[in-house]
Amino acid sequence: MLNKKSILYKTLARAVSMKRPHATPSVMAFTDWLHTHLPRLPHIAVSYDAAGNLHVDARQDLLSRTLFVAHVDTVHREEGSNRFRKTQGMWYADGAPLGADDGAGCAMLMHLIHAQVPGYYIFTQGEERGGIGAKYLADHSRDLLAQFDRAIAFDRRGIDSVITHQGWGRCCSDAFAASLADALCADEVLMYLGDDTGVYTDTAEFVDIIPECTNISVGYDHEHSDRETLDLHHFKALAAAVVRIKWDELTTARDPALVEESPHTDWLGMYKTQASTLSTKWDSKWLAKWDDEDTDAETETLLVMDCIDDAMRGMYHDLLEMIAHAAYPEDPEFALRFLNKRLLTDEVLEKAMDDCAVYGADTVLLSLFDAAHCEV
Ligand SMILES: [Zn+2]
Repeated sequence: MLNKKSILYKTLARAVSMKRPHATPSVMAFTDWLHTHLPRLPHIAVSYDAAGNLHVDARQDLLSRTLFVAHVDTVHREEGSNRFRKTQGMWYADGAPLGADDGAGCAMLMHLIHAQVPGYYIFTQGEERGGIGAKYLADHSRDLLAQFDRAIAFDRRGIDSVITHQGWGRCCSDAFAASLADALCADEVLMYLGDDTGVYTDTAEFVDIIPECTNISVGYDHEHSDRETLDLHHFKALAAAVVRIKWDELTTARDPALVEESPHTDWLGMYKTQASTLSTKWDSKWLAKWDDEDTDAETETLLVMDCIDDAMRGMYHDLLEMIAHAAYPEDPEFALRFLNKRLLTDEVLEKAMDDCAVYGADTVLLSLFDAAHCEV
């Protein structure tokens, strides 16, 4: 249902195939993957801050006053490849959290950037450890944050929330929430409403600087547990809607200098209960499984797709290595000598990419060996 070559699909698939705890090589590798898969356009400026947040300034002459955020880390305790199951309309965790929290949000940001929707985008670090990256921004980048009228996180469970309150109080006005909900519902496919039951996400750190801060449902559910799911129908419909919204025309009404307390007084207790029950639920089961898990088939296919993608852009090295390993695992160096990258034409690579949807990684690599080997 989602085009497998789209950046939306590729980012989501890449994200959920890896456990990405904060401050680990895995989360750095994922952040780097996002960086290398940004479109190379002259009006986009990319940078990292000292907290490791990845900034993508795509405001187009600084005209946009919209900030989009999603976090790159997951709630997992250890690194490694992540298993998941797919049906047409739903992706499911398999033994550990799926990591659509917030891989779905990261995919949505990549999708917006590639669609050239004006805005400033930040892929934040350490949200699951208390908003480490967002706190760094609030502490060290107030001047930057002051350049925005609205901060949009794509990091909320469910399919219908535009979050108006997080934790201690209001984060956006009802007028803003209504204007955003209306814009999201314009095609009568989605059904969004203001929701005052938000707990915490990165944008909560910006409420005293940015007038309208919110968090939007991206379709995941039961996050932080091994029952986490992602509703692909919703995810796809949301992706179609967000590129059509005129973000800079949304209502701005809240004064960030005024604090309005949340109607939900026991939010801290609610948060603690939720955090403790959710984090223990999957932990032990998952740890027991960890040692004997090899890379699963899904991840292998994703790796092959990634290498084919690189080859399409002129970087053949990794794909040739993979083909050699698949054809002659006992002596890949020898096999490499018989591979000619010139035989990996666009046509051959495109067919291999399509084959990835149907066949296993080994089958695809062996057919590539057939196409690319020559007698010396
Ligand atoms: Zn999250």
